[in-house]
Amino acid sequence: MMREQYVTKPFKTLDDMGDIAGKVVLVREDLNVPMHDGAVTDDTRLRAAMPTILELSDRGAKVAILAHFGRPKGEKNPSMSLSLVTGALQDVLGREVQFIPDCAGDGAKDGMAVMRNGDIAILENTRFHKGEEKNDPALVDAIAANADLYVNDAFSAAHRAHASTEGLAHKLPAYAGRSMEKELDALQAALGEPVKPVAAVVGGAKVSTKLDVLNNLVAKVDHLIIGGGMANTFLHARGVDVGKSLCERDLAETAEQILDAADRAGCTIHLPYDVVVSKEFAANPPSLRTCNVHEVAADEMILDVGPAAVEALGDALKNCRTLVWNGPMGAFEIAPFDAATVALAKTAAALTKEGSLVSVAGGGDTVAALNHAGVASDFTFVSTAGGAFLEWMEGKELPGVKALMG
Ligand code: ADP
Ligand code: MG
Repeated sequence: MMREQYVTKPFKTLDDMGDIAGKVVLVREDLNVPMHDGAVTDDTRLRAAMPTILELSDRGAKVAILAHFGRPKGEKNPSMSLSLVTGALQDVLGREVQFIPDCAGDGAKDGMAVMRNGDIAILENTRFHKGEEKNDPALVDAIAANADLYVNDAFSAAHRAHASTEGLAHKLPAYAGRSMEKELDALQAALGEPVKPVAAVVGGAKVSTKLDVLNNLVAKVDHLIIGGGMANTFLHARGVDVGKSLCERDLAETAEQILDAADRAGCTIHLPYDVVVSKEFAANPPSLRTCNVHEVAADEMILDVGPAAVEALGDALKNCRTLVWNGPMGAFEIAPFDAATVALAKTAAALTKEGSLVSVAGGGDTVAALNHAGVASDFTFVSTAGGAFLEWMEGKELPGVKALMG
C-alpha cells in the first residue's frame, strides 16, 4: 500500500536507460559485507544488489561493478580486495562474475575490453585509490574513460561525496538502480510527502547521537515517541528522578529546547509514564519490576518502556498513517528488556499489514530489533543503510542522491 507521492520521479531509473546492449555500465553497489575466516557472514547487501545487476545483464549491458571494501585509506591492501567477495556474489546471482584488478587505468581498461554483452565483473576496491574519498576529478575521469553509463545502487554510501558515489554521476549519464529507487521511494513516502498523521519513534541509547534527528523530526511529524535510554534525559529534564539510569544530565537544557520546539510545531511528544527497572544490567534480574516513572529508586535503572505506555503508544499508532522508526525502546539485547520494542513493532507490523500504516524503519540496532521481533518483513520498508539512513532522518541532503536529481 506504499504510495509514491510524486507523479514523476525526480531522478532517472533503469526504465529511462533505453537500449543498453553492448554498453559498459558502471554500477556502484554496496559490497561492504562482513567477513569471518574468508567467508561472507551476512549476504544481505549482495542480495540487495541482485535485481539491478541481473536486469542490466539481461538487457545485454557489460556490467562493471564499483564498490569499496573496508578502509584501505588509498593504499592497495590484499586483505581488502574485492576478489574476496567475487565468489559470494557469484553464488547469490547464480551467474559467473569476473574480477578486474583495478577500477581505473590500464588494469581496468584491459579487463573491461574483453567483456562480452551481458558479462558481469567486479572492479577492484575503489578505495585503493586516494582520489576516491577526495572525489578527485582525475580519478573520476579515469574510471569514466572505460564506460558509457553510470548507475548508483548504493544508498548506504550516498552520504559520502566520493568519486564512485558522487563524482561519476556528473561525468556520465546517471541513473538510480533498483535498490536505490526502492529506498528513495520509501523515504519519500515516510518523510518527504507522507500521508498524515505521521508518527516517529526515536529510541536508542543516547540523546547526544540523535540531536539532529530529534530537531528535524519535531518540525515534521505529528507524534514523536521517545523511548530507550534517551527518554531518561527527557524525563530528567522534566524533573523526574531517573535513579541510576543511563542519562545525559548535561543535555537537560537541550532536551527542554526540543520539547519547546515540539510545542511550537504542534508535535505531540510521548514519553513513557511507566517503565521497567532493575538494579543490575543482566537478563531476568531478581530486582526486576515495573513502576511509574515517578517511583524509580535511587539505585534502579530504567531499561525498558512499561506495558501501559506501550499499549497507549499502540493506540496512538492506530490513528497514524505513516511511521518512521529509529532506535529500540529499551535494552532489547537482554530479556525481558526487549518487551516494549517487540510489542510496539508487532503493533506497527499488524497495522501495516491491515493497510492503515506505511512503516519505514532503519538503523543498525533497529534492524536487529525488528528481526528479533520477527516482523521486519511486515514493515513497508526496512533500511539497512545505517549512516545514510540517519543522515536522511536528520534532514540532510545526501550528495550521492542529490547528484542523481535532475
Ligand atoms: P540504532 O543502531 O538503531 O540507530 P542506537 O545505536 O541508537 O540504535 O541504540 C541502540 C542501543 O540503545 C541498544 O544497544 C540498546 O541496548 C540501547 N538502549 C535502549 N534503551 C536503553 C536503556 N533504557 N538504557 C540503556 N541502553 C538502552
Ligand atoms: Mg546502533
